Amino acid sequence: MQTFHVAIVGGGPAGSSCAAFCALAGLRPVVLEREIFPREKVCGDCLNPSCWPVLERLGLTQRVRDLPHSKLTSVQFIAIDGQNAIVDLPAGDESELSIKRSLLDDVLLKRARELGVHVSEDTTVTGLGKINVEKSGSHGPAARPPSHGPERNRCDSLQAGWKIETTSGKSFFAQVLIGADGRNSTVARLRNLLPHPVRERVALQAHIPLPRNFGKRIVLQFLREGYSGQAPVNETELNLCLVGRPATISSLRQWAQQHFEISASQPWRTITPLTRAPVPCVHENLLFIGDAARVVEPFTGEGIYYALRSGELAAGAIAKIIGGKDRQLALREFARAFAEMYRGRLWINRLARAAVLSPRIGSAFVHAAQIQPALLRLLTRKIVAQENDQIG
Ligand SMILES: Cc1cc2nc3c(=O)[nH]c(=O)nc-3n(C[C@H](O)[C@H](O)[C@H](O)COP(=O)(O)OP(=O)(O)OC[C@H]3O[C@@H](n4cnc5c(N)ncnc54)[C@H](O)[C@@H]3O)c2cc1C
Repeated sequence: MQTFHVAIVGGGPAGSSCAAFCALAGLRPVVLEREIFPREKVCGDCLNPSCWPVLERLGLTQRVRDLPHSKLTSVQFIAIDGQNAIVDLPAGDESELSIKRSLLDDVLLKRARELGVHVSEDTTVTGLGKINVEKSGSHGPAARPPSHGPERNRCDSLQAGWKIETTSGKSFFAQVLIGADGRNSTVARLRNLLPHPVRERVALQAHIPLPRNFGKRIVLQFLREGYSGQAPVNETELNLCLVGRPATISSLRQWAQQHFEISASQPWRTITPLTRAPVPCVHENLLFIGDAARVVEPFTGEGIYYALRSGELAAGAIAKIIGGKDRQLALREFARAFAEMYRGRLWINRLARAAVLSPRIGSAFVHAAQIQPALLRLLTRKIVAQENDQIG
């Protein structure tokens, strides 16, 4: 059984970020990832400018900018009746980019690997065993990990941990476990923490040929059956997302086929739920980050930022715990910083959810924005403004 300070389930932005920051702090992390990268995933592919400070701390700013991408200049909101309102996006270093997730997530996971993280792809976590060890020091044989290298002293002081079973047949041992495995988190499910899924909506996503003269805009279009998000991801491809209810999603797909002249055989990726209750981010020796902890409405394109930043915050807490600092204090600080990250932003997300759950309300909002453009500008600025998220 391989032994690590921290096992991170999921190698998306949350898991890779957490793993990379753990490695930078001198820890020995492992990432267990179901897929083999590069892989695509259902996403609008828009990288909110809030991500840049985290990417900078990961030493990835230039590498991300070097990936094929589109520099987005505006957001166009289109009402059901076709009326629209346009808001400019910040330019320069604070600009919003769109990058295919196959490319972005691959760079992030590669960076983690480069920093010394053990990455096990094609490895689905299927079982978790919590190992509690007597404080008297009578470690059971399964609980005591083999000591190795510079981690010897730290691992010898192990009090408890996790045995993680995977489909690859290998099992892993770690002192701390991180659930970074997305909105349908297996870790949360195995610990009976996953909220009952409300499959009220479903999302479809595809990369299709970029329509001529599409420009560098994001389009958020309200439709009778739901909404569509569109953004160019390079010189030739458009990211097309459709969000609707299970009963309406096929008519949304038909709309897309007609509107973009795509064939009925176009393959679509799919995901549900779009909304679910949060999972508390702190448990004993177990933290949740990214979508596994809290799912936000995709309309505002912020999920990648929350994933990256919560990964960084969790790594800070783990470094303190493994380093022998006050565990309860470290966990409390993490929980506070995690909540702080969403404060002041969630109301916009709720507003966006109200708009997309009722496209008529969303459309009325677009009409209002035509008369009062400052309102839409304010909301957009709030979403795409860089956060001052330096670590305290
Ligand atoms: C329609 C839609 C559009 C969106 N558009 C945007 C956008 O434009 N911009 C934005 O910032 N956000 C957007 N989001 C949100 C964004 O996609 C997520 O917030 C982000 O991917 C969360 O990252 P994560 O690392 O937490 O989870 P994920 O990216 O979901 O990564 C989880 C990883 O865990 C792995 N995994 C799952 N189960 C297991 C298991 N049992 N064992 C091992 N590995 C496992 C998966 O393979 C995956 O690689 C959108 C979401 C949707 C649904």
